[in-house]
Amino acid sequence: MQTTNKGLDGVEYDYFRYHPMGEISSWMAQIEDEYPEIVTVTEYGQTYEKRTISLLKIGVDTGEKKKAIWMDCGIHAREWIAPAFCQYFVKQILDASKKDPKMEEMMKNMDFYVTPVLNMDGYIHSWFNESTRLWRKNRSPGPDGCGCYGTDLNRNFDANWGTVGVSHDCCDIFYCGTKKLSEPEAQAVTYFVGTRKEDFLVFLNIHSYGQLLLFPYGHPNFTADNDKELMDVGVAAADVIKKVHGMNYTVGASADVLYPMSGSSIDWARMQGIPYAFIFELRDNGTYSFELPQDQIKPTCEEAYEGALHIITYAHDKTFNSAVATAAATFDFMTLFCVFLSEK
Ligand SMILES: [Zn+2]
Repeated sequence: MQTTNKGLDGVEYDYFRYHPMGEISSWMAQIEDEYPEIVTVTEYGQTYEKRTISLLKIGVDTGEKKKAIWMDCGIHAREWIAPAFCQYFVKQILDASKKDPKMEEMMKNMDFYVTPVLNMDGYIHSWFNESTRLWRKNRSPGPDGCGCYGTDLNRNFDANWGTVGVSHDCCDIFYCGTKKLSEPEAQAVTYFVGTRKEDFLVFLNIHSYGQLLLFPYGHPNFTADNDKELMDVGVAAADVIKKVHGMNYTVGASADVLYPMSGSSIDWARMQGIPYAFIFELRDNGTYSFELPQDQIKPTCEEAYEGALHIITYAHDKTFNSAVATAAATFDFMTLFCVFLSEK
């Protein structure tokens, strides 16, 4: 499996090392240069510290309206394996687009929107020194009278905001902000996805750690109307993950498997009608927690890639094969009708 790509400067990008923000931004530009036909860097917001938030849009321009897949990594700063996974995922689907007919088909029907680092300010802060390595939140200052920084972006979305599994203390790591969507990073995702919500089939939000596949809702009083299907798809993805390196991932609604939470982006996405919304909590189970050693980047990405691909393929096939089946049925009817006419 090819896992490095030579940049314009001839240096191979190492997907199995953690990269600071500047290197990830350069990598995005490099990927766009290497795959100009199918990759576009799209800017869609600004962080509190005025950094531009961008994603890679990946797909074949067919001139038709397409369905879409969302993936964002690095919503929580300290979860460094998440941005590493987004970069690996992008490289894998680009490699597959040249040699795997299934990926070619999916890239004609769908665009992949991948944000390698959503919480850029927090990610940069977590690289600053050892004392800031475990920073989780973004970097906006607290309200008047509070000397602490940062809002938990995955508690700031418009989904039963501020009710369960949050803190209203701005010094807490689960601080949900002064109001729903108070944070520019959460606003950016809400606007970009919300204005195309009928296009999106899948919404994947990547975290560590815990080895979990979570689906809506985080609020214990609510159940997704496709709860059983989400469980079935999630369990099948966990089975695929286990086949790669034997790791166990637990599947369930976030309120049941992890803890109740409100204001998460997957809950918001499901409430917008996006059918397949999942949180991936990548390795490990607490041995190294957020400081997963670099020698685990490769196996973690390999197994999670297969899990994500399973969910994406399921959503694709359900959407497009049923359309093909309908077209085929119509064709059969027309064939019979013509036979009927010709025999008259
Ligand atoms: Zn997280």
